[in-house]
Amino acid sequence: MRVNFRRYFLYLCRWQLSTPVLAVVLVWLSTFNKWTAVIIANLIGGLIFFWVDRFIFKSKLLSAQWEIKDNIKCSDCAEIARGYRLVKTSNYDKSEDKMPKFRCEKCSKKKTKLLRTKGIKV
Ligand SMILES: [Zn+2]
Repeated sequence: MRVNFRRYFLYLCRWQLSTPVLAVVLVWLSTFNKWTAVIIANLIGGLIFFWVDRFIFKSKLLSAQWEIKDNIKCSDCAEIARGYRLVKTSNYDKSEDKMPKFRCEKCSKKKTKLLRTKGIKV
């Protein structure tokens, strides 16, 4: 199973955002029965975070998957460094590539710019 770490990171941040929202609502409803207050707080959280979660899991802006490996030989400059390769976006798929090419950070940035000029959504 491949994990899209950008989505995962945003999802973890979103959980942190839900905590203060729920806390504020629970303080606001502190005179209510505790169970009623929790149900209302979760309902309000659900109304807000349904849309945030939907963006996190469906946005094409977050669809790029990268593979990162240490100590690779850059396919452009031959430097031994941490290597990056774009695996998949909404309109680019090298997930079945038998000879994947990794690039150092500097060359990867150049390659990314080039791909963007070709219309790849990265
Ligand atoms: Zn390089």
